Amino acid sequence: MSGDVPEAEESLAFRIRGVRQSFGQTQALRGVDLDVGRGEVLAIMGPSGSGKSTLLHVMAGVFPPDEGVVDYEGTNIADLNEVERSRLRLRSFGFVFQFGQLLPDLSAVDNVTIPLLLSGWSRKKALARARDALAELGLADHGEKRPGELSGGQAQRVAVARALISEPAVLFADEPTGSLDTLAAEKTMDSLLELVRSRRRTMVIVTHDPRIASYADREVIVRDGVVSFRGGDGYAG
Ligand code: ADP
Repeated sequence: MSGDVPEAEESLAFRIRGVRQSFGQTQALRGVDLDVGRGEVLAIMGPSGSGKSTLLHVMAGVFPPDEGVVDYEGTNIADLNEVERSRLRLRSFGFVFQFGQLLPDLSAVDNVTIPLLLSGWSRKKALARARDALAELGLADHGEKRPGELSGGQAQRVAVARALISEPAVLFADEPTGSLDTLAAEKTMDSLLELVRSRRRTMVIVTHDPRIASYADREVIVRDGVVSFRGGDGYAG
């Protein structure tokens, strides 16, 4: 079941062991162990500066860790070179961030086509697929608008459509609703989670907001560069 802490190795998307990462004198990650099940929605919480974004970047192959294993579906991402990591990201991972992810001079629908065009789709096929994706998120009438002509919540749903357009196995979200008011945040999270769950995708959400984390199957807390709590029933104290 997707709500359980993963147990069997073969049901795991990620198996992370002993991951360390420093930036100069700052030890951002100090030995992270973490499993993420396939189809699991995991929230990574913790105070600002605790290492959450660094952990997400390491899991997503943005950069390799200084030390440790980041096993994704049997491949240690830490062993891949830059070209192999970017290929993995393009093929298997989608990303939703807090700010500035849409290109301001392109229409919503053109923004959504970008990952498909990068994967070699024709513009015509990509546009048709992008229009369907926007319609699924309630944005059928907004495809020709530029990001500046959309509300914050609409723009963030365009970003969600773009992140999911190439059917990534894993969606990474870093404070995905951090710039939105409560209502827009809820609407964005509802749409996002419905798409992720109906397609049985794995999702990793970094947030400091307990309301956003409550959408997840499981929460872990990162504190001082280590995962200090695992469980599904809230804080142990
Ligand atoms: P969080 O996401 O929990 O706020 P981060 O992972 O962004 O924490 O940062 C953890 C620590 O690593 C912080 O002290 C931060 O200043 C530092 N850090 C993160 N990224 C970099 C970087 N690219 N260069 C230098 N220091 C960094």
